[in-house]
Amino acid sequence: MTLNDDITYLKGVGPNKARVLESEIGVKTIGDLLHIFPFRYVDKTIITPIKDITGDDHVQVIGTLFKKESIRGRQKRTVATIKDNSGFMELVWFRSTAWLEDFLVPDRKYLIYGKPNKFKGKLSISHPEIEIYQGAVNKQTGLDPIYASTELLKKTGFDGKTRRKAIHAALSLLPESEVQENLPGYLRDKLKLISRYEALKSIHLPPDRAALDAARNRIKFEEVFFFQLRMLHNKNLRKLKFKGAEFPTIGNTFNKYYKEKIPFELTDAQKKVVKEIRADLGSGAQMNRLLQGDVGSGKTMVALLSMLMALDNGYQSVLMAPTEILAQQHYVSITESLKGLPVRVAFLSGSVKGRTRVDLLKYLAEGHLDILIGTHAVLEDPVIFKNLGLSIIDEQHRFGVMQRSRLWKKGQVHPPHMLVMTATPIPRTLAMTTYGDLEVSVIDELPPGRKEIITLHKYEKNRDQVIEFLHKQIKLGRQAYVVYPLIEESEKLDLANLQQGYEKLLNYFPLPEYKISVVHGRMKPADKDMEMQRFSDGKTQIMVATTVIEVGVNVPNATVMVIENTERFGLSQLHQLRGRVGRGGEQSYCILMSSFKLSVNSKARIKIMTSTNDGFLIAEEDLKLRGPGDIEGTRQSGGLEFRLFDAVEDEDYLDTARKIAKIILENDPILESEPNTILKKYLHHLNQGFKDWGRIG
Ligand code: ADP
Ligand code: MG
Repeated sequence: MTLNDDITYLKGVGPNKARVLESEIGVKTIGDLLHIFPFRYVDKTIITPIKDITGDDHVQVIGTLFKKESIRGRQKRTVATIKDNSGFMELVWFRSTAWLEDFLVPDRKYLIYGKPNKFKGKLSISHPEIEIYQGAVNKQTGLDPIYASTELLKKTGFDGKTRRKAIHAALSLLPESEVQENLPGYLRDKLKLISRYEALKSIHLPPDRAALDAARNRIKFEEVFFFQLRMLHNKNLRKLKFKGAEFPTIGNTFNKYYKEKIPFELTDAQKKVVKEIRADLGSGAQMNRLLQGDVGSGKTMVALLSMLMALDNGYQSVLMAPTEILAQQHYVSITESLKGLPVRVAFLSGSVKGRTRVDLLKYLAEGHLDILIGTHAVLEDPVIFKNLGLSIIDEQHRFGVMQRSRLWKKGQVHPPHMLVMTATPIPRTLAMTTYGDLEVSVIDELPPGRKEIITLHKYEKNRDQVIEFLHKQIKLGRQAYVVYPLIEESEKLDLANLQQGYEKLLNYFPLPEYKISVVHGRMKPADKDMEMQRFSDGKTQIMVATTVIEVGVNVPNATVMVIENTERFGLSQLHQLRGRVGRGGEQSYCILMSSFKLSVNSKARIKIMTSTNDGFLIAEEDLKLRGPGDIEGTRQSGGLEFRLFDAVEDEDYLDTARKIAKIILENDPILESEPNTILKKYLHHLNQGFKDWGRIG
């Protein structure tokens, strides 16, 4: 038997089961089956008295058959009542179950296992695993694996017990040589890791707790280690392969701007990051750097200074933002800020058309433009640079890897240096996994004079109070945002909500004294921009909007952010939205409106929001609440899946694995020396895409 053998090689798995296995859980081969690990284990040495069953968890019960009945009709089923000393419960089978006729005998004792339901106070287990009780429970196989399954699989007869049997059979038929080791001996010795083969056996059928722990330990390490190794190894290869444009000088434009034009002193954090970028740009190797900084930390300034470094060395740069509004805002503030300096800046988005576009593209290709600012329109093929030296992506989390690579390809001799910026604070564990191939810079300090935003939670019944508060702030000359959720599946309803909210606000803030802007995703970009601009210019006092304003917009005079239906926003999103206020010197407020009934999770999110402004803390909490599986790029990263490793719980593994991967690669950058060739082979295997479970070599 080999790992690549078809699943039907196993006794008891016929074409019917095989079909369902493939469609339901993607299992075609023995290897597929063995690489779906149990999500937990049940200690089968424990027997639960019926009265102690809570209905939350699988239980094992020993009971005597009290009565059985076959219920006919539309929902044909067999119901057996069993009892022990403490109470009664029902067992239910919905399928045609001829075998039950003889199997279920009154007063016989059974060993029963399954997940109980409690319905109208009645306990029952549907389709339990059941066998005739033979006296003592087998202490040898105390831990039974539980696999994620589906209704259809169970209906087809591939229940937990069948699955364990199939896995047992597969493992006993599989020669050890089929599961080749991929870690060098010295590493296994050092970390006391069991072999790959042993681990695969014990993860499914652990003889005891200790064996299970050893298996989990080995597999988690392996997963995260190869993930890190691959990333760092690729980075090494890239460094060898790609030189970057070298920017040796800090020239006139940079100096003049730095000394005469910046209206404020850079924060220490900004200075530190500018230094890091400068070192990269001068090194001759291509830069790939992630710049993380909370909302309002001043990333744009760092971007601008970097672009001036490129310019002084004769190179063009591009700054790409995820929305038209944001790109436009960057363009306006950057051209404003560069006034009086010989820097040629242009703006490009889908709305730049005709003659303007043609000219722009021509100037860009001929090198008459220094800085291009725009939306993803800058990625299009006709956008050709004369000599692109630096690409900056703002709010990276809104873009994918694809966009990064398209910008990368716009270089002429060398790929451009890449700086990707994000205000979504990425927890450390995630930064290392998702962005492990990037160097990371962090701006961990806000410009001085910012006041903490005060965040309050209010219910619908407090609305009058909230309106009154808005009135007060507007009297003081401030502006406010009122944000509504907009989630695709209920887009129409949400839009109606926003419209209603807007109309209500009109009653409280009537024309002509007050003016209210509305912005949402269904509007034409030009209309959106016009509304944004009116708000930004102070011509309107309130901006009613959907989350289109989530990223980047900068209106320092806005001091109130009211968020409607707070329970429908994620934690990180709430933090982003809140970041739209508190950008000037005035005290700002964020008011989270919600209905009275809140889920535990919503309550937790609101509590976190009202208790901290720290974006990193919030991101960590977000990760905990949502679970890393939900966050793109953690479970599945470039074809490499984490089956056991958990970005929240297994931080230690990440640290160890990364450290070791680094040391190995420092001594052997492309894994050429003898004990490491096994690593290289396995990396190659991973890079092939992984559907072949077979030999690594
Ligand atoms: P973000 O990191 O969210 O992109 P911005 O770059 O938009 O932040 O900066 C937010 C605001 O802070 C801008 O108005 C900017 O001019 C201002 N700012 C940036 N750096 C400083 C600084 N060192 N001191 C004072 N204000 C600053
Ligand atoms: Mg920004």
